[in-house]
Amino acid sequence: MDYELTETQLDIINLAGEIADKKIKPVRAKYDASEEFPWEIIEEMRKADLFGVYLPEEYGGLGGANLELILMSERLSQACAGIGLSALTSSLCAIPILLFGNPDQRKRYLPDLASGKKLGSFCITEPASGSDATSMGATATLEGDHYVLNGVKNFCSGGKTSETYVVFFSTNPSKGPRGISAFIIEKGTPGFSFGKKEEKMGIRCNPTYELVFENCQIPKENLLYKEGRGLHVAQGTFDLSRPGVAAQALGIAQGALNETIEYTRQRKQFGVPVSSFQAMQHMLADCATQIEASRALLYSVAKAMDKDVIPATQKAIKEGILVYDAMKKLGAKRWTKESAMVKVFCSDTAMKVTTDCVQMCGGIGYMRDFPVEKFMRDAKITQIYEGTNQVQRNEIGMMLIKEAASAARREAVAA
Ligand SMILES: Cc1cc2nc3c(=O)[nH]c(=O)nc-3n(C[C@H](O)[C@H](O)[C@H](O)COP(=O)(O)OP(=O)(O)OC[C@H]3O[C@@H](n4cnc5c(N)ncnc54)[C@H](O)[C@@H]3O)c2cc1C
Repeated sequence: MDYELTETQLDIINLAGEIADKKIKPVRAKYDASEEFPWEIIEEMRKADLFGVYLPEEYGGLGGANLELILMSERLSQACAGIGLSALTSSLCAIPILLFGNPDQRKRYLPDLASGKKLGSFCITEPASGSDATSMGATATLEGDHYVLNGVKNFCSGGKTSETYVVFFSTNPSKGPRGISAFIIEKGTPGFSFGKKEEKMGIRCNPTYELVFENCQIPKENLLYKEGRGLHVAQGTFDLSRPGVAAQALGIAQGALNETIEYTRQRKQFGVPVSSFQAMQHMLADCATQIEASRALLYSVAKAMDKDVIPATQKAIKEGILVYDAMKKLGAKRWTKESAMVKVFCSDTAMKVTTDCVQMCGGIGYMRDFPVEKFMRDAKITQIYEGTNQVQRNEIGMMLIKEAASAARREAVAA
């Protein structure tokens, strides 16, 4: 399919593809087994300037937006979603700073995230507060010119490999959801340490850590956006970042299908390649159709989003205002429904396709020395993180009902 990508966008695919095929494929099984972080590949990604493809040129990025992030994430994940995740994890730190950071915060943090000199993470989850972020227990108390942070966050992707973190705390527990605030925190700040490292099913080379805050003091300038508006920061970020997870899922599905087509053409049973059986061809056909449908939905949503994000970003930089405020001024739409749709659709596709690919490869598909089982393990997380698919479906349902209610109100006024 021709998605009418620009030359720069095609270059991103090619650059990410070179790294995926030549550098990542030969080492993905090693890093999956050892659970070590692939610093050698991070260096290749830095050299290729991949970390900043979605960030404005003013901060050292390539000047792209969502579509560029998606193209990179999809292509890297075709080789290994765990290794590709390092760029996505950093984007989950850069996006809230881009959207909600003031000009000083953008200038201070985005260039190092854009170059990949520093990696970033985002942490809202706590042991007792997952899908229900409003129940968080970690607190930030303003004392003079600094906040004092206390509490434990868990399941932080990137873990110790990051240098910059966007973390959520309650600044006013009595206000519940309206008491949550977002902060930028740097590694090495006294009182900020790392707890348990998780052992995982998939994306094993990307470390997942507990973050511990014990009377950790940060300057009050590190507040991101406004006190009590942390959930706006989180939702605004997820609206733009969930397509990145969808792209990861899409890459996983495509990677598994490519390996499966190759294998089933070679593998002979009953004297013929197993790909010549119609039952196999129907499974291949369904996988390919689901993948292309996912890609068409994802790219069209990303392109539509970028029509809002790019002009708002330019306006914000020119006028020294927040990108989030510029989006509101320009009448940008909220992308909550569509970003949830692409995440659900692409991640469910990835799970279905990778499971079918293991089936089509037979016994070898189940073995560690063949790559398809890893794609199936990696696919699962895309249905869970950045909000489970159940929670995404809740959001889509809620938005549909809200839209219907607003349409009914408009009709009533017009009548
Ligand atoms: C490998 C990994 C990496 C992660 N990385 C990060 C990270 O970098 N930063 C970060 O902040 N978090 C991260 N997470 C956390 C992740 O976003 C949460 O695990 C996820 O949001 C679900 O929360 P939970 O695990 O507490 O599940 P729970 O909220 O306990 O949910 C359990 C089950 O109940 C269902 N459920 C819950 N509420 C509802 C509802 N209202 N309606 C229907 N069903 C519901 C869920 O869908 C799920 O099936 C990561 C998680 C993993 C596993």
